[in-house]
Amino acid sequence: MYVLVINCGSSSIKADLLDPATGARKGSVRAERVGTDGAFLRVDDGEPEALGHADHTAALRAFLPRLAARVPTIDAVGHRVVHGGERFTRPTRIDAEVEDAIDKLSTLAPLHNPPNLQGIRAARALLPDVPHVAVFDTAFHSTLPRRAQAYALPHALVAEYGIRRYGFHGTSHGWVAQRAADWLGEDVRDLRLITCHLGNGCSVAAVEYGRSVETSMGMTPVEGLVMGTRAGDVDAGVLIDLMRRAHLDADGLDHVLNRESGLKGLSGVGNDLRDIEARAADGDDRCRQALNVFCHRVRKYIGAYAAVMGGVDAVVFTGGIGQHSAHVRHRVAQRLEFLGAHLDEDRNRDAQVDRANPVYAVSPPHARTAVLVVATDEEHAIAKATADLCLERDLVAGADLTIPVAISARHIHLTQEAVETLFGPGHRLTPLKALSQPGQFACEETLTVVGPKRSLERVRVLGPTRPACQVEVSRTDEYHLGIDAPVRDSGDVANTPGVTLVGPQGALTLQEGIICARRHIHMTPADAARFGVKNRDVVEVAIDSAGRDLVFGDVLVRVKDSYALEMHIDTDEANAAEIEPGHQGVLEGTGKVARLQHRRTHFDPH
Ligand code: ADP
Repeated sequence: MYVLVINCGSSSIKADLLDPATGARKGSVRAERVGTDGAFLRVDDGEPEALGHADHTAALRAFLPRLAARVPTIDAVGHRVVHGGERFTRPTRIDAEVEDAIDKLSTLAPLHNPPNLQGIRAARALLPDVPHVAVFDTAFHSTLPRRAQAYALPHALVAEYGIRRYGFHGTSHGWVAQRAADWLGEDVRDLRLITCHLGNGCSVAAVEYGRSVETSMGMTPVEGLVMGTRAGDVDAGVLIDLMRRAHLDADGLDHVLNRESGLKGLSGVGNDLRDIEARAADGDDRCRQALNVFCHRVRKYIGAYAAVMGGVDAVVFTGGIGQHSAHVRHRVAQRLEFLGAHLDEDRNRDAQVDRANPVYAVSPPHARTAVLVVATDEEHAIAKATADLCLERDLVAGADLTIPVAISARHIHLTQEAVETLFGPGHRLTPLKALSQPGQFACEETLTVVGPKRSLERVRVLGPTRPACQVEVSRTDEYHLGIDAPVRDSGDVANTPGVTLVGPQGALTLQEGIICARRHIHMTPADAARFGVKNRDVVEVAIDSAGRDLVFGDVLVRVKDSYALEMHIDTDEANAAEIEPGHQGVLEGTGKVARLQHRRTHFDPH
């Protein structure tokens, strides 16, 4: 399965195509200055390619075919949406109504939701047949208790304008909390974590037993930590004062608080921490002060959140600054010994994380509170959330999506030439019984299959004849014969073991052709549409069985107009699920049904 993750800003688009199971990238595109005459894009960090005047749709149209060509199919699109308001507390499949709701939430996030929505509309128009899922930055914090949501403002105002705290960066906080728990070998539901996402935007979250219970951003991303250009916490009285004395109106305050403050405002040299660190090291007083204020604020929140949770098991640093600045981690962690958290300074200097190795401990091995650097990966988190929702949907829809199960007992397909060698010149196969797949039949003819160890007598031949001979057996049959045959799709016999067939008029030794058939489902294109799968998808199928319910993984979907809906399993598999085997030698319907659990992955045999 491949998911396209789209993150649209007002003048930029980030698009990543990835495998949600592993996070592996199949392609990345960054489009900048979208909506202007100077729009350009970069594919995989390559050279900029000018687009001329391009809006979001034109920019997407310019690169989507190139990304799509890198994978068999784009199975779903995950969209980052900043504000989900009260309503969207989990990833949500997008339809016209959800688009409208995201649009209405623009009042809460006027800088972010409108471009997010532009990206959604453009992508849905260009990829109308795949599910689109919105993943909200606020969703992870929907578990904030009411006391952490509230501002102490008059009730009537709060009610009329929907004023409350939401929190942001939720996708990142949730992701790094889970990575930290995995690394610690604990269930995230047993841990109290403080996650510090320090990038251009910065926020801290208290993640208590897997749920966000406090976070430093509020109704908007301006609250909390010192950020690249945002102020973070400011006495609201200061804003009143600025309105009165500096004659700033709403737009003026917006500009100051969002664009001119934070590290940029403090340092006077911009928002890039690397520059500020370099100048601070050279003795620049304002830059030293910027670092002091930045780190002090983070430490203050860590202390507060430890108190909120009544303790802390690990402190996590992530984001461009959290992952890369040993200096900031060192400063923040000073005086956290009372929480059992301190740094091993060598490890702190050496810390390096990436997507392959996302966690590095900068605390000593047996510290009471671990201090971890964790690489965030919001695109992977969005891809995974998108894939999970698609899988879950199929599960929910599964109630009426049943599939008849047939047991495929050991059998043989022959070429006409082989028929004549084994049964005599001019012999034609004699149909005994029609099989469920149109045109297929069990034959009167049977053969002996001779393996190195033992033989199997009276193995049924199926017709009609085929271009290549093939013997399909179960694992148990293989042990009996003394052959180690691979699990293969029917027809894929290259480099499989050979076997000897003995018939009434002759014997034939095949150089290759014995396989253990991959379990599969035959279906028509209409069935495939109903199940939401494609040819060669690999799915899971559940079989209800008295006392031996079983879920089969690695079930190959085979779609063709001429097929009839049916799942084929072999006798071993049928026995394991306590399904009554059919008559030996033919493919027998069992009266059992299976449910397609969910769509799992696209099958790539190589
Ligand atoms: P965003 O929040 O936009 O995703 P990032 O998480 O990439 O941003 O963080 C950007 C910040 O990380 C910038 O302030 C940058 O200076 C800082 N940063 C990146 N690399 C380093 C580094 N090696 N040392 C210190 N700071 C760094």
